[in-house]
Formats: sequence, structure tokens, C-alpha cells
Amino acid sequence: MPHRLTLQTLIDRLSRGEVTSREATQACLDRIHQVDPSLHAFLHIDTEGALRAADAADAALRSGVTHHHRPLLGVPLALKDLIAVHGQPLTCGSRILQGFVAPYDATVTTRLRDAGAVLLGRLNLDEFAMGSSTENSAFGPTRNPWDTHRTPGGSSGGCAAAVAADECLAALGSDTGGSVRQPAAFCGVVGLKPTYGRVSRYGLVAYASSLDQIGPVTKTVADAALLLEVISGHDPRDSTSVPQPVPPYRSALTAGVRGLRIGLPAEYFVDGLDPQVRSAIDQAIDTLRQLGVEPVNVSLPHTGAALAAYYIIAPAEASANLARFDGVRYGLRVPGPDVVSMYSATRGAGFGPEVKRRIILGTYALSRGYHDAYYLRAQKVRTLIRRDFLEAFQTVDAILTPTTPTPAFQLGEKSGDPLQMYLQDIYTISCNLAGICGISVPCGLTPVTRLPIGLQLLGTPFGEETLLRLAHAYEQAAPWHLQKPPL
Ligand code: GLN
Repeated sequence: MPHRLTLQTLIDRLSRGEVTSREATQACLDRIHQVDPSLHAFLHIDTEGALRAADAADAALRSGVTHHHRPLLGVPLALKDLIAVHGQPLTCGSRILQGFVAPYDATVTTRLRDAGAVLLGRLNLDEFAMGSSTENSAFGPTRNPWDTHRTPGGSSGGCAAAVAADECLAALGSDTGGSVRQPAAFCGVVGLKPTYGRVSRYGLVAYASSLDQIGPVTKTVADAALLLEVISGHDPRDSTSVPQPVPPYRSALTAGVRGLRIGLPAEYFVDGLDPQVRSAIDQAIDTLRQLGVEPVNVSLPHTGAALAAYYIIAPAEASANLARFDGVRYGLRVPGPDVVSMYSATRGAGFGPEVKRRIILGTYALSRGYHDAYYLRAQKVRTLIRRDFLEAFQTVDAILTPTTPTPAFQLGEKSGDPLQMYLQDIYTISCNLAGICGISVPCGLTPVTRLPIGLQLLGTPFGEETLLRLAHAYEQAAPWHLQKPPL
């Protein structure tokens, strides 16, 4: 059952010739056919393309190409339907792009292909990555494999559900305010948001360009390190990608954690934190303490303003980025008597309610007369939030928090109340505003409902090595990642 393996174990077996890429790919496709009707993690499955790539990988392996040269040779992965794959549908979970086919590869896609990966298909998401439950997908929600009445989180809900349910070995999602980490927490898998500028955004459909970052969703921390190694690095096509060398993240894993200091921010352990989550986090702190990590109390005083700042900045950027979907260049066109009515008929029919809400909010915040009161102020708050973190990192190596205030909620529970939905992001958005890196690792199951709980570690800018080292040490000491959903 090669679909059940981790990336690293599958790679070892492929190298030794114990399994072929075709067998692994077919196992994933079978698994998708078995479970996806009840999960709806996939929006599109590329059976033929995947099997062709698998056969090519098997031929390369037989001819002596090794995983040293092509680290993902023969490994079946899947991508959030917001990351371009040449010739594949690119819907962003939106009606406005229904039927649109990507004319080129995203840089991360090229890197995965160069590394030999097999791409299985397109994963479901909240429309244009706006949401925390995948319920904003125009094509219907994804369900949580641990309890199909619950959400897998969002916006990369398809990624987390598919990895948790062994439909693919790993996935790439995008994280603007928590969209990789929150669904990873809800589905009991690992989700990493790299430092802003670590991974190229070329070919990632922009939501909020100053916050967006592509990140891996995996079964283990070691797998996240491997994928990060493959997708990171400077890209001349994205001027915000940083020309900083990519460290061998996998070698950092076993460096040991004794003597490292982790900050516990007072502002994150407050009312509204579910007691079951709190107790799992307390246990995780104990586990780390036993590994020789020293917990230290820290303060991030501007935390309370983060949500408000985010929900100005992200919609402001989104309102500009989504202006391109006008019925002229991409996807849907609803005809009208003149061009302006064509624009509004297209956008009216093509965008869902949450996307419209964000465009209106963002346009308002950027409009003359309100720009300084909203957008400019939010940017100032953003600077203060970044400073809070940089100050805390003077005394600690990483910061530890819950990933989410509660475990996975019921489908429909929050979809009528945008503010309740936005509150889901309370622990994850500051990381994006500050541009630092963060990871969520499984740290427990709720006692009665048996729902996964996520532990979040936040690291310094380009401090992914320390983050991965801590997360790996924790995972080895508390192997919650071995728990599987009862599908
Ligand atoms: N839930 C947040 C939002 O709706 C974060 C989404 C994301 O990271 N893409 O904006």
C-alpha cells in the first residue's frame, strides 16, 4: 500500500526497486476513487498524465538516475488549484475561472517536475484562497477525513484532507493568513509556511501579494524539509524571492534541540482557546522541556490588532489583484450591451459572496478619503507586529502557540458569520504580517471526538532550519503524526 507511506519511505523503496512509481501512482489513484467521493479533496484528477509521468520516472530509475540527482523521482504529489500547471485546469475554486487551463507552469511546478515528481491533479480550496473552511469553493466544500461532517479547514482544505487520507504522498498549498497551517492542524498533518521571499510566487494566482507564500503539506516534518529544499530559492521571475542560498534542510533535522529557547506569548493563551487545545499544547511544552528545550514567557503586545490589520491589508491587495478578472482576458464572460455592463455581469456572476465582500472591503479601504485611516494605519500596525517578533527573537529561538483556537468545526457552523470565520485565523495571521516562517505539527487528539490538534512553531526570517529541527524533535518524541483518520 505505497500510498500510505511518507515521502521519504517511498523514495527509499523506489531507490531499492521494491516498488515502482507506477504502482505508487496507481495506488494513489485507487485511493482517490475509493475515498474522494466522500471527501471532495480533488477538483481534477489527471490519471493519464500521472501514469505517463510515473512510467517516465520508472524508466529513469532503471537507467540509473538516482534520488540524489532528482530527489522526488517517481513520487505522486498534488497541488492546490491556485498553482499553475501547464495544460491543467486552474480554477482557484471560482466560477470565474471554470474551464480555464493554465498556459504555463508555476516556478514551483517546474521545480517539482525537474525533481521528478508525478502530479496527480488539482486540490480544492476556498475561492481565491479566501476562507478558513473550503466552504467558499464554488465547487462544493471538502470534508474532513476525521469526521466528514466537519471542515478540513481552509483555504488549502483539499491539500490537508488529501494528505491525511493518503490520496497523495504530499501536497503544495499557499498560506496568506494560515491557509497551510490551519488545515494541516484540522487534519492531523504537517503544514509549513516559509519565510516571505523563500519560495517563488511566480505562477501562484495572487490573493494578497505581500502575504502569500507557497508551502508544503506533508505527513512528517522530514517530508516538509525535503519539499522545502526542492521548491525554495531565488527566481528572477519573482522579484520578491530572495537570492539567499537554500540550506540542506534535511540535514538540519537531527542537529538536536537541547538548550534552545522557545517563547510562549502571553497574548496567545487567552479566553477563547478551547481547553482541549490548551491541554494538548501544555503537554507539548512538557515534551519539549524533557528534550532540553527551555520555555520562556514572552510578549507580542500588538497581537490584538493583527486580525483587524490583516482584514484591511489582505482585502486591499485582493481588490487590486482580482481586477484582472474582467471577462476580457480570462475564463468566464457574461455578455452585456456595452463593455462596462459586460464587466459587471461577468464579475457579478463569476465571484462568490466572500470574494465580493473582500473586493468591496478592500476597495473601500483604498479609496480616497479612507486610505490613510484604514490602509495606512493597518500598514503601521503591521510594522509594529513585525517588531514585536524581532524583539522576542532577541531572547528566544522560536515561538510556540496553538495553530488554531479550536479543533475542526462543523460544516455550516460558521459559514453564515464572516467574523466568526475570520477569528479562526487569530493565531496564524501574525506570521504572514511579520513575514516570518511557521509550521504546524500534530500534537494530540481531542479525547471524545478524536479530532486532531495542531502545535504551531514560529521562527525567525529564514530560520526554517531551527523551526524544522524543533518540529522534528517534537514529532519524534510525540508521534501523533502516526494516528490516522478512521476512513
Ligand atoms: N483565512 C484567511 C483568509 O481568509 C487566510 C487565507 C489564506 O491564508 N489564504 O484570508
